[in-house]
Amino acid sequence: MNSRPPITLRDLAAIDVGQLKGVGDKKRASLAAFDIETVLDLITTYPRRWVDRTNEARIADLVPGQEALVLVAVRSVTKRTTRNRRSMITANVGDGSGRMEVVFFNQPWRERQLKEGLQIALFGKADTYRGGLQMSNPIVDLIGDRTGKIVPIYPQSEKAQLNTWELAGWIEEALRRCRDRGIADPVPDEIVARLGMVGRSAALWTIHGPESIREKEDARRRLAFDELLRVQLVLVLRKRELERSSQGLSHAVDGELVRRFHEALPYPLTGAQARVIAEIERDLVSSHPMHRLLQGDVGSGKTVVAVSTLLAAVQGGHQGALMAPTEVLAEQHATGVRALLGDLKVPDPGNLFGDRPLRVELLTNRVTGSDRRDVLAGLADGSVDIAIGTHALIQEGVEFSSLGAVVVDEQHRFGVEQRAALRDKSSGHVPDVLVMTATPIPRTAAMTVYGDLDVSVLDEMPPGRTPILTKWANGPLLEVEVWADVRHEIAEGRQAYVVCPLIDESEKLEVASAEETFQRLLLDELHGLSIGLLHGRLSPGEKQMTMDLFRAGQLDVLVATTVIEVGVDVPNATMMVILDADRFGIAQLHQLRGRVGRGQHASTCWLVTQEHDADNGGNPRVEALVASTDGFELAEVDLDLRGEGTLMSTSQKGRSDLKLASLRRDRELVALAREAAFEIVDADPGLVDHPVLRDELDLLFTEEDEGFLAKS
Ligand code: ADP
Ligand code: MG
Repeated sequence: MNSRPPITLRDLAAIDVGQLKGVGDKKRASLAAFDIETVLDLITTYPRRWVDRTNEARIADLVPGQEALVLVAVRSVTKRTTRNRRSMITANVGDGSGRMEVVFFNQPWRERQLKEGLQIALFGKADTYRGGLQMSNPIVDLIGDRTGKIVPIYPQSEKAQLNTWELAGWIEEALRRCRDRGIADPVPDEIVARLGMVGRSAALWTIHGPESIREKEDARRRLAFDELLRVQLVLVLRKRELERSSQGLSHAVDGELVRRFHEALPYPLTGAQARVIAEIERDLVSSHPMHRLLQGDVGSGKTVVAVSTLLAAVQGGHQGALMAPTEVLAEQHATGVRALLGDLKVPDPGNLFGDRPLRVELLTNRVTGSDRRDVLAGLADGSVDIAIGTHALIQEGVEFSSLGAVVVDEQHRFGVEQRAALRDKSSGHVPDVLVMTATPIPRTAAMTVYGDLDVSVLDEMPPGRTPILTKWANGPLLEVEVWADVRHEIAEGRQAYVVCPLIDESEKLEVASAEETFQRLLLDELHGLSIGLLHGRLSPGEKQMTMDLFRAGQLDVLVATTVIEVGVDVPNATMMVILDADRFGIAQLHQLRGRVGRGQHASTCWLVTQEHDADNGGNPRVEALVASTDGFELAEVDLDLRGEGTLMSTSQKGRSDLKLASLRRDRELVALAREAAFEIVDADPGLVDHPVLRDELDLLFTEEDEGFLAKS
């Protein structure tokens, strides 16, 4: 009886692939070129396809004109040169159901590759040719003489001289040699059983040699879950650690000030606003510092939520700060927040009148001289209640008397360093932090990308909004209609934005193209209208002046680069024209479109593209925008269209990368993994009772990976 403990991933990572039969120096080098150095790397090299011999894959079932996969044996191979001197290899192949011809042009090496009797999988389009079937230049996978109903096909490379059957053979050998001791399964039995998952050993064995596609799916589900669980464990451990190690403020949220603010609003809160404010208040009351992400589409009413949060801090005798990514946005926020606050008074029993005015101050690099000194003094002595500014608020030598809550607007990554800076700002305690973003990301992606934050979602728009009508002008003929529409809208007293083509490589080219567009519209399509130009190379003063003119209605049309992407708010602007819309991403188009639809008049967004070949698969991003105005729905489409990408920071694909799991397809598994991670960590915060699991994290995640995951 063998009493040694089961084999761990660390054990497997310590065995060089050279230990396997048939892996000599040459093969070892080929494997290394594939990043396969250890037995762990090898057995986590999963098939990229599984072919069910009995079900698909028969020649008799091929339909001319359709792509399909067949599993066949090579019968004979001939080589000739065509009249235009191209090489042409013809292979006769067959299976139990029939035979066909396969031709390869300009691939002379196929002659050496396709030996008689070899089993191969072909993927391609079959056509009828001289009464028989023919495939030309299909994708070829060598299967070797493998038997079994389901054939796994591994990633393989001609260059590295590795065949799928060789990989399969080595993996089989490696797994066979693990059989006696078995492979450790560090996930608690209870969780595995509750989720109806197969054991890890079985899953590894099965994924490389399933009896059925169904069985393969179960194995994949288990192994994908393990990948996601490890990511979530890193995130949840980090989250809990931060919560333990930092002392937050316990705000009193049932005070008078926030109530007065809500009562003074000219409208009732939406259900979503009320819910999210309650979620935030729970965090504020708790002595753990809040670190929460607020996702809400453009126009969903995030400002009210932000101000409620800041006022909760003020109400408890602390200060609030609102940080924007740019000075212009900070200024807009200051204006907007002041308007929203009206003449709200802070209850103050020490005051003769029972309350005192609320003091809100703007602090950017443009606030200078004695104004600046005043604001800084007010922050330090606590007489400034709410500070609005850029990151300079927490970075430069700014002292707060007692910073209680920070709202960060439109910040993509507000990370560990920034949080550390906050701690230094606030005499020991860590202020509560709310990060707001108008770029919705799908919930399960948020669980990973922002995995150490709590997430709140404003998923309801304030009432009374006319939805934006989005239209696609594909080609110059339709573009004519666009400019006519702009003129019509302006005749009605409205205003329009024209967004110029995005040029990623160079701001200079982008500005040049914006100037060109501006000149062209001025002389031609929009001749006679008053038009302004806004781009990143103008001085802040020029930008300000142009924006002020547009806001005051003295410009009919604002031609701009994407500098208008965030924050600009002109309710009378009801038309948005985006040129070369196919150069923008979905999220960016959605942001841009959000600049209109802000007033009581119906708005239109025109997406203009150069003529697009409809046969060319159309333009899925533009079509998505036409079909939906829901940011979350669009975020899902975006994720689908973009595919996976790698999760980790490192450009080199790490061991921690997801090999089987997909944030796109495995949304349910992401949620299950997150739940399981909380369950495990909350019962065992240091993973002392789960040493193998702990060890897997140490093995598979570099510090860099962990840092990246937590850097949200
Ligand atoms: P966001 O910052 O999420 O893009 P804002 O906070 O700027 O959205 O709000 C967008 C508009 O909706 C503002 O004009 C605001 O006055 C209005 N608004 C916010 N909350 C409500 C509500 N509950 N009912 C009606 N209008 C609202
Ligand atoms: Mg906003």
